Amino acid sequence: MSRKEKILKAAQKTAQEARDAAQRHRESERRKRARREFQTPEHRHCVICWAPIPLDSDPAICSEATCAEKQEKREASRKRLTVMLYLFPGIAILLVMLQLMGASG
Ligand SMILES: [Zn+2]
Repeated sequence: MSRKEKILKAAQKTAQEARDAAQRHRESERRKRARREFQTPEHRHCVICWAPIPLDSDPAICSEATCAEKQEKREASRKRLTVMLYLFPGIAILLVMLQLMGASG
């Protein structure tokens, strides 16, 4: 590899790193701004990351895809729990009734 090529490569690498850093900076600035946007007395928080979100957002999650995913999983397990909460006492009552019917019959 010639000296010129080496320098060119190094310059390109540095430029790429600078671009990456600028991108990261822009990203964090954007996030800060988004947070500032909802600095109102009436707001709610994302149930996953607690970022302030508008009061009327439903479900109560921010725009992050990971939060939506986590919320979905949480909702599914909550639903399962609710089903079990009704299902198990139902089965227990059914068993007791069957036993009573067997005893009397
Ligand atoms: Zn969130």
